[in-house]
Amino acid sequence: MTDVILRTEGMSKSFGAVMASEDVSLDLRAGEIHAIIGPNGAGKSTLIGQICGAIEPDRGRVVLNGADVTELPVHARAQLGLARTFQISTLAMEDSVLEHVLLGVLSTDQPRLGLWRGAKSYRSAEDRARTVLERVGLSAVASRRVAKLSHAQRRQLDVAIALTLRPKALVMDEPMAGLGTDGSRMMTELLGRLRQEAPILLVEHDMDAVFALADRISVLVYGKIIASGSVDQIRSNADVREAYLGD
Ligand code: ADP
Ligand code: MG
Repeated sequence: MTDVILRTEGMSKSFGAVMASEDVSLDLRAGEIHAIIGPNGAGKSTLIGQICGAIEPDRGRVVLNGADVTELPVHARAQLGLARTFQISTLAMEDSVLEHVLLGVLSTDQPRLGLWRGAKSYRSAEDRARTVLERVGLSAVASRRVAKLSHAQRRQLDVAIALTLRPKALVMDEPMAGLGTDGSRMMTELLGRLRQEAPILLVEHDMDAVFALADRISVLVYGKIIASGSVDQIRSNADVREAYLGD
């Protein structure tokens, strides 16, 4: 299929006796948000780790735009456009919002600093950084230090940094975590807009957000995908309701 941007084939990983991933095959298609849901310990973060290259699978493959990236390290996958939202802890409190995004732009567009081309290229990098900030809604706080940002704004900045990679696919582990109602609404609206730019593999516990955003949902339980389908299919699936949605 030509519109598949990212896929896993038979991904398996155990930690001792725990099968964190068992034969997980899924794909992410152009323009979509594919949500992965499942109870704590289901293996969602392990799956993301294997897709992004932080965790080595026991078996299985990861294919990005038709290329097998299973053997590539995290940064090489990132250069190919596989962007994972950064954890909060990677933000430097004393640096400004613009500085963070600028660093992402420079390392993506001008990775060989030996070829630094002076003020003109700095200005074009700054232009792109400001465009990215505009897209995530952080223009008004571009010069603010991260220490002064709200939790929701830090999450927006994580997304902005991911966008500096010119991503082909975005992989997000619980972007709504810790956000209040307003923050979740803002992030839901933002992710809804971003899917046009890059499809999103979205691990998320906030079911209001998942049901509002997902084009497809896959349900992971004990490392296995037990169901996959549209929002309506998943909401009405008896196994899913029993295993996860709590009836
Ligand atoms: P989720 O993100 O869905 O909550 P995880 O992927 O974090 O689930 O964990 C899946 C299972 O694998 C859990 O049983 C967890 O305890 C186990 N696990 C995850 N990472 C490790 C690790 N590094 N060492 C041992 N067990 C792990
Ligand atoms: Mg997790």
